[in-house]
Amino acid sequence: MVNKIGYPDKWRDYGPVRVERGDFLGDVDRATEFESQRQLNKIGKPVDRTEWQMTPPTVNAYYDPQMNDINFPAGVLQPPLFDPKLDDAPNYGNTGATIGHELTHGFDDEGRQFDAHGNLRDWWTKKDAGEFLQRATCVSDQYAQYTVVDDIKINSKLTLGEDVADLGGTLLAYLAWKDATRGQDLKPVGGFTPDQRFFIGMAQWACGDERPENKRLNAITNPHSPDEYRINGVVSNMPELSKAFACKAGQPMVRAQACRVWRKWSRSYVGSETLGDGRH
Ligand SMILES: [Zn+2]
Repeated sequence: MVNKIGYPDKWRDYGPVRVERGDFLGDVDRATEFESQRQLNKIGKPVDRTEWQMTPPTVNAYYDPQMNDINFPAGVLQPPLFDPKLDDAPNYGNTGATIGHELTHGFDDEGRQFDAHGNLRDWWTKKDAGEFLQRATCVSDQYAQYTVVDDIKINSKLTLGEDVADLGGTLLAYLAWKDATRGQDLKPVGGFTPDQRFFIGMAQWACGDERPENKRLNAITNPHSPDEYRINGVVSNMPELSKAFACKAGQPMVRAQACRVWRKWSRSYVGSETLGDGRH
């Protein structure tokens, strides 16, 4: 998997696009024509693997299964998401989980169908694929229960890839953070333990609000679950969170049948009292 960070190696030349103040429609027309021509010019040429699908100021990130690359524009690597002035706990929780999310897309229900070179090819053993489908079904059953607005539930077959990426990505970030800070004596900050601050950092990327009309639209068209479930749906599957906040069985953030697609429960990070049934 290729890591693309910040901005492309070579800048696209927009020289031929004429931009005129006071001619918005004309500007849009000319920009659209330029882009169409740029795409058509690719015909018959090898794939440009250095190309980005997002501009450098974009506050977002993506995984491309056909390129097998993860892309983090400069815009997403700044506060309040990634903050170089902060310590590891909130940064791993926030940006680390986003990096893990994009990595995990390579192994979600769609990305797993592409091989390392970006070709649509089934490279999994039957046993692995069967196990994946069973574990992913746990996730889609979970999210299908969440209400978006009024009587509308999440279409969890549409959101499965993103939900799997959210869960796997947060777990990856947690493990990476534990690994990076091994042997360090991390102190509480602002009354919160390091583990609590990891999860607070993780949750804060999703702060936002939406009108009900937009929630209805997103329920049909957006492959991402609503923000609150992109947090609560994930952490309620993580005994690491239960332990950090001393949640007890039966409380809202402790799911009795927690889902986990990637990596078995780890005894090195969580107490045995919060372990699941060992099925995963
Ligand atoms: Zn995603």
